[in-house]
Amino acid sequence: MKCVVCKSGETRPGTTTVTFEREGLTLVMKEVPAEICANCGEDYVDETVAREIMALAEKMSQSGAQVDVRRYVPGSVTC
Ligand SMILES: [Zn+2]
Repeated sequence: MKCVVCKSGETRPGTTTVTFEREGLTLVMKEVPAEICANCGEDYVDETVAREIMALAEKMSQSGAQVDVRRYVPGSVTC
């Protein structure tokens, strides 16, 4: 697809790092599948994946975690 940020680049499948912050919790998720703009580097994370990460962050914040860095494994996050 065409990048909506720079409006000239095309996106390609790749991985990115997502940082999620919420109520004192910082979650860094590495190797998240995303479409990456070949021109400006903007990343587009799939909505399903984004929801998985949010659900995980929610659980972690409830368990009192403050900082966590982990690698994204598809389907490993359950609500
Ligand atoms: Zn771009």
